Amino acid sequence: MAGPPETARRSPIDMTPFEAVSLFFDRAADHIGLADEMREVLRGSYRELRVQVPVRMDDGRLEVFTGYRVQHNAARGPYKGGIRYHPDADLDEVRALAALMTWKTAVVDIPFGGAKGGVQCDARSMSDAEKQRLTRRFTQMIAYLLGTNRDIPAPDVNTDARTMAWMMDAYSTRYGYTPAIVTGKPVELGGSYGREAATGRGVVLCLAEAGRSLDIDLQGATVAVQGFGNVGSWFARLVGELGCRVVAVSDVAGGIYAESGLDVDAVVSHVAESGSVVGAAGSESITNEELLELDVDVLVPAALDRVITDANADRIRARVVAEAANHPVSPAGDEILEGNGKTVIPDILANAGGVTVSYFEWAQNIQQFRWEEERVNAELSKTMSRAWQQVYARATGDGIPLRLAAFALAVEKVDQADRLRGYV
Ligand code: GLU
Repeated sequence: MAGPPETARRSPIDMTPFEAVSLFFDRAADHIGLADEMREVLRGSYRELRVQVPVRMDDGRLEVFTGYRVQHNAARGPYKGGIRYHPDADLDEVRALAALMTWKTAVVDIPFGGAKGGVQCDARSMSDAEKQRLTRRFTQMIAYLLGTNRDIPAPDVNTDARTMAWMMDAYSTRYGYTPAIVTGKPVELGGSYGREAATGRGVVLCLAEAGRSLDIDLQGATVAVQGFGNVGSWFARLVGELGCRVVAVSDVAGGIYAESGLDVDAVVSHVAESGSVVGAAGSESITNEELLELDVDVLVPAALDRVITDANADRIRARVVAEAANHPVSPAGDEILEGNGKTVIPDILANAGGVTVSYFEWAQNIQQFRWEEERVNAELSKTMSRAWQQVYARATGDGIPLRLAAFALAVEKVDQADRLRGYV
């Protein structure tokens, strides 16, 4: 007897990242009654490029990496999105993340489309010199897709301001001085004040708005943060401004917990000295899995994708989950959290502070006029508050979860832009 078709047999946890993001998109398309013909246009990418990235390693070997730049949609403006260096950065993942950028830039209403890039490599085992050679070659290979009015990369997982400096230099050597070609640069090279902290700060601003709208008292609320890279560490440093207490943080090496609250600045210093949060004074060790299931008020996944799935969603005790990472909750995990009455602040809203300040950086580069940090943070705050209010109003108005509301708003905007341009 023939078994069920392959797709029917797969549980939602087995979905690829792109299938999962497409499911979120399809639900929004159903909700807003998007025309079938537009579904195909908006689900897939406008353009996808796979490149070979040969790198001479320090030991003399030539290693050939594979890199991608996926340009999902540019109806609302130039393509925008980060570059990640990670062993899992394959075409499907980069495609999913590119689509998320389209929806994210639409939610915060900045004039960009969505793209993502990635090189499949274990950046953490590579020397700085190797990473610089990789970055320069990758930039050369995708350069003809880029442009200050075409496609503007930024940092993402395992890339940072220094990576952007190398990208800008590689591009500028060929095309002339072009600071606006990437965002997230060092401040000394045209980066914006406040960009490094922006994603974490945006999550804090969103959480503050959620607290006000949902009547959640954040004063004294306990917070657990999974991931202590740029986003997680800045979030942990800034969330104290809301009166919250960070009781747990983690990184790839493991997690730490202190019931009375961690001294986040001391943890940051400990990481600078030892390379990990593990072993910070006054903390006990926990695993990354245990961190997710702690009895806290707010859980902030700020590391990689799909850490909350149908395998553990039932054990999440936090009342609010703020998605600082991209796609940390699988569709099946999302349904379970929803069923358990959790408030999930979706990635395309919660972590949009980074790309928002990237927009400010790009605008400053083009105008050749630097903003003070106060102005950057004030504009960021305005943008995040407006986005939250719009998503929250849609969610309550239509009686739908925040993720569906955010996707619905975003898909409507991009659909409208594509139609106005006469693209379809
Ligand atoms: N990588 C960040 C994100 O996923 C920032 C992208 C950007 O600034 O272009 O939102």
